[in-house]
Amino acid sequence: MIPAKTITILPGDGIGAEVTHAARQVLEAIANRFGFKLKTQTALIGHEAIVATGKPLPEETLAACKAADAVLLGAVGHPMYDLDPSAKIRPEQGLLALRQDLGLYANLRPIQLFDELLDASHIKAETVKGVDILFFRELTGDVYFGQPRERRDNGNTALDTMIYSRYEVERIAHKAFVAAQQRSGRLCSVDKANVLESSRLWRETVQQLAKQYPDVQVTHMYVDNAAMQLIKNPRQFDVVLTGNMFGDILTDLASELSGSLGMLPSASIGDQHSLYEPIHGSAPDIAGLGVANPMATILSIALMLEISWQQADIGQYIRQVVDLVLKEGYRTRDIAESHTPPHKILGTTAITERIIDKIEQPALTLI
Ligand code: NAD
Repeated sequence: MIPAKTITILPGDGIGAEVTHAARQVLEAIANRFGFKLKTQTALIGHEAIVATGKPLPEETLAACKAADAVLLGAVGHPMYDLDPSAKIRPEQGLLALRQDLGLYANLRPIQLFDELLDASHIKAETVKGVDILFFRELTGDVYFGQPRERRDNGNTALDTMIYSRYEVERIAHKAFVAAQQRSGRLCSVDKANVLESSRLWRETVQQLAKQYPDVQVTHMYVDNAAMQLIKNPRQFDVVLTGNMFGDILTDLASELSGSLGMLPSASIGDQHSLYEPIHGSAPDIAGLGVANPMATILSIALMLEISWQQADIGQYIRQVVDLVLKEGYRTRDIAESHTPPHKILGTTAITERIIDKIEQPALTLI
């Protein structure tokens, strides 16, 4: 019996509302199917929150997230802020503050490819087939948060600070080592230790920690080489551990292996809280058109079940259901191929209905 769970849903901006609505329906279908109780509440973040309250992360939202067993986020961001890059209040501040306030220091991004979508990748199918990488990106430190960060010399010189403490590296590295033990036993730590002092501390810390995990084979790679290797031979990677900025860049690069932002989920976890979200943004170009691909958010629910609720088999079941819908040839617009018949290209609501139909079929059981 799975204990009752409360989740706080933050639809956010643009397509965030559409994809979180879809994922919520899927989660409710899963709860019905597997007999557990679910309580959901929604709260504001991002541009929607600024419009309603003047703040990108209102106190009530933070309180609702802290009180929940898990948080599901759509996306934040609105094009009106592009017109004023120096705007003091911005939607993205809501998400950065939420990550910090909830202590979400580890961002997990699985890059798993569905065989049905191999041709959607810009990289040759034979190179990407079978890719299964789990990134651990540090999320609350590094140059994105380091102080000082300022302009000097009448604005003509700018400064950011790349900083890591041993403690910050250790706490995420432990999680990555444990994940490696549960997978193939291989971990690649990515840094720039040939140039950066913070990277030398990173590498030294990972090397010391490795002694506690003798069953994990650890390699170290410079970030520039890692970027090249991800495109050249992505199957060599299993668990990849890296800092905030390198992880930001490498995970976006790796998402290209799958060919679509609309298929990739993520989890951000800390010691007390966890947040699940698709990797894509608010996609203002398609917001409100009903064509957004909800599968990245639905797959984020699968991660929630695995990580927050320790229901790995149900998480795998959700992936299996998505795979079956793809095998039947259904696609959203972003993943449709030139040979996809028009009647198989579905909008957000229709593809979600296909997924829920499968969940409700008694014949499809946990594997
Ligand atoms: P984006 O991910 O929103 O969109 C990039 C392209 O991918 C667009 O053409 C979009 O239509 C398409 N796309 C994205 N998700 C899709 C989906 N589920 N289904 C179908 N197509 C999809 O990135 P962007 O355009 O660079 O950014 C738009 C806004 O989102 C900006 O304000 C940015 O700051 C914000 N953003 C937020 C997050 C987040 O909330 N975590 C992440 C990235 C970008």
